[in-house]
Order: sequence, then structure tokens, then C-alpha cells
Amino acid sequence: MAESTYSESKCFGCDARCCHDGVYLKDGEEEKLIDFVNKHSEDFADILEMDTPIIVDGDWPGQEDERKTNTLPRDDYDDDYPKHFTKTKCIFLDNEKRCRLEYVSEMHDEDPNDVKPESCRMFPMRLENGKYVIPSGKREDDPDNIGEEYPGFISFMPCINRAEGMVKS
Ligand code: SF4
Repeated sequence: MAESTYSESKCFGCDARCCHDGVYLKDGEEEKLIDFVNKHSEDFADILEMDTPIIVDGDWPGQEDERKTNTLPRDDYDDDYPKHFTKTKCIFLDNEKRCRLEYVSEMHDEDPNDVKPESCRMFPMRLENGKYVIPSGKREDDPDNIGEEYPGFISFMPCINRAEGMVKS
């Protein structure tokens, strides 16, 4: 098996908060993920040995009938980690903040794009009316801002709000 060339900082290098709730999957992605994990079961032995599913039902209002990657507890976030985000991480995020789908693909000379969910590959762009667009970092434009209880998602990402000059939550 070749050594992975995956580098930790392909983005702005924050605390990987975009991965804290896992990812909602598009049609066909659940099957691809499960096939990939089973094909490389040695690389995912720790996950496979856990008494927890890899993919679960969604719990975001309106997305309960969708499937998403499961999450695990995590407590190594930065001081400015948004208070309304759960202290969790996607089951595929390792302790070095790397997506294991990506680096296991690279270790086996496979294309990560074949297995990494589309939403993760395109992040922080969002799908709007069938096209990926760079979202506004403004809190008032955040489509997941449902009030004080949950004031947003994308507007709390350093990679977006840095560009808007509003780094902290
Ligand atoms: S699949 Fe990878 S990039 Fe997507 S949320 Fe999980 S760890 Fe992050």
C-alpha cells in the first residue's frame, strides 16, 4: 500500500467544523460509501468494530427522510467554536482533521472523487437552483439560520466569513 500524500491543510485549516454533523447524502452515495468501507475494511477496522452504524437517518427539520453519515463525540474544537454546534465529528473525520474517505482513496491510488460525497467535495459552495454558488457569509442570508436556537451554519465557517471580514461568531 502506498503512503498517503494527503495534506491536512487543503482549506483554510480551521477546526474542521464543517464536518461536525457529518454530511447528508445524495442518491447512490450511501451504497458507494458502504462498498468503499467494506473494500478497504482494514483501513476502517476501528469504525467497523464500533457498535454504531456508519450511515443514519437525518435529524435536521425537513430532512428526516434523508440519510447522512453518523457522528462521534469530539472535544478538540477551537475556543471560537459556535456554541450551537454539537461537539461531534463525522465518523470519517480523523483526529488530524482529515477526511478518511479522501486519504484512504489516495493511499490506494484511487480517485477520492469517486467516493467523497458531492456536498463535501463542493463545500463551501451550495447547490441553488441546480447550480453551485459561493454563498454569502452574512448571518441574515444563512439558509440554516432558524433563530437564536440555531443562528446558522455556513455563516459560522471561517472559510466563508473570513472573506466577508466577519471571522468570529
Ligand atoms: S465525509 Fe469527509 S469531508 Fe464529508 S463530512 Fe465526513 S469527514 Fe467531512
